Amino acid sequence: MSHPVPEYDVVVVGGGPAGSCTAGLLALEGHRVLLLERDKFPRYHIGESLITGVVPTLTALGVLDRMADLRFQVKYGGSLLWGADQSAPWSFRFREVRGGRFEYAWQVRRAEFDAMLLDRARELGVQVVEGATVREPLTDGDRIAGVRYQLRGESSPVDARAVMVVDASGQQRWLGRRFGLVDWYDDLRNVAVWSYWQGALRYPGEHEGDLLTESCRQGWLWYAPLSPTLTGIGYVTTSDRLVASGLPPEQLLEKQIAGSSEVAWLTSGAKRVDIYRAARDWSYTCTQFSGPGWVLVGDAAAFIDPLLSSGVTLAMRGASSVARAVHETLTAPDKERHVMQAYEDRYRDFLGSLLELVRFFYDGAHGKEELHLRAQAIVDPDHSLPPKISFVTLLSGLVRGDESLELGSLSDH
Ligand SMILES: Cc1cc2nc3c(=O)[nH]c(=O)nc-3n(C[C@H](O)[C@H](O)[C@H](O)COP(=O)(O)OP(=O)(O)OC[C@H]3O[C@@H](n4cnc5c(N)ncnc54)[C@H](O)[C@@H]3O)c2cc1C
Repeated sequence: MSHPVPEYDVVVVGGGPAGSCTAGLLALEGHRVLLLERDKFPRYHIGESLITGVVPTLTALGVLDRMADLRFQVKYGGSLLWGADQSAPWSFRFREVRGGRFEYAWQVRRAEFDAMLLDRARELGVQVVEGATVREPLTDGDRIAGVRYQLRGESSPVDARAVMVVDASGQQRWLGRRFGLVDWYDDLRNVAVWSYWQGALRYPGEHEGDLLTESCRQGWLWYAPLSPTLTGIGYVTTSDRLVASGLPPEQLLEKQIAGSSEVAWLTSGAKRVDIYRAARDWSYTCTQFSGPGWVLVGDAAAFIDPLLSSGVTLAMRGASSVARAVHETLTAPDKERHVMQAYEDRYRDFLGSLLELVRFFYDGAHGKEELHLRAQAIVDPDHSLPPKISFVTLLSGLVRGDESLELGSLSDH
């Protein structure tokens, strides 16, 4: 049976950072791109603390100025109170990465950040449809050749045919679930509970926007200054410990805040101004990132614990990388398997480095020096630089230090 000629080069499923950046970068290359997003933007999303690994993709999309317009809280680094022997927080600055190209990142309100990226994709020529839930793939032999989706409020489905389908559906893991690809990490079955406070205190000067990460009994707290007055605070622990505590998640969060060293005094005069939210944030990686006609990016491919604030960076670095792979596939279809494998190898390499450090953080109460040394063992086994530089490089999401090796405008390659 012959199939209709595809009307799109690419269909992207999902309009979070992974989907909108992939779509925008492909449109910049002149490809016909359809992006389908289930929700109507702006919509709430967790994952507000960014690291400098997002900057190259923001630059390639031409939206750095818009980050300033949105007046997000600038973040020059992070502060940690982690490790048995630590009595005061210690910190790192993003500019400590070798070359120091990116001095700061941001704490963002995801509703606005994600909407800005989706608008940019639209401006670059992507056909964006919101309120469109992708239901199933269309196939042509063993190849995925498009998607069937449903518009909110409509009963009949719509078909869209494309040469390539990019699954950026986040933790919905549209294809990963369908193909049984999701591989869970048993040691990282964590849960998170969080809310927002008005009037919590700030560290002075350049540390004002730091994400504070404080280890506490059986878990850790994040303290994210989202604006001069609003602070997001969350607690992460294992699913087992939450059950064993016998407490509802919100009571556990309040108990951990009250018993903490730093977060307790920072929030002493603050008032909670939002509901409690909770998520199971079990870590996973799909066993395969691509197949004939399809590829996964962002949380649809893998999710690593929130500890290193790396999710949005993985989504956006992944978008740059997958956009290049899809562009090469569209230009030279016989190279599809090769370029998709190269994309997967690069992505796994980066994921593997982050995962190793996350596990070391959780594996006992290691202090500052041990964490620096472990980071060095992961990214700089020849010890060519001081250990702290490796640590900051990993926590910036710039594993290779020099992003120009990997990212930037597709046409640079
Ligand atoms: C507790 C917690 C704290 C976190 N903290 C941080 C942090 O501080 N910093 C950080 O960088 N990351 C953090 N993350 C991770 C971050 O939230 C994600 O990694 C990031 O949002 C992934 O982006 P994405 O584009 O892959 O997916 P998403 O942002 O989830 O976007 C996926 C989109 O796909 C849409 N979609 C899903 N299914 C369909 C479908 N069938 N059809 C159409 N559309 C669909 C969804 O509506 C959604 O808009 C945290 C995560 C958790 C759980």
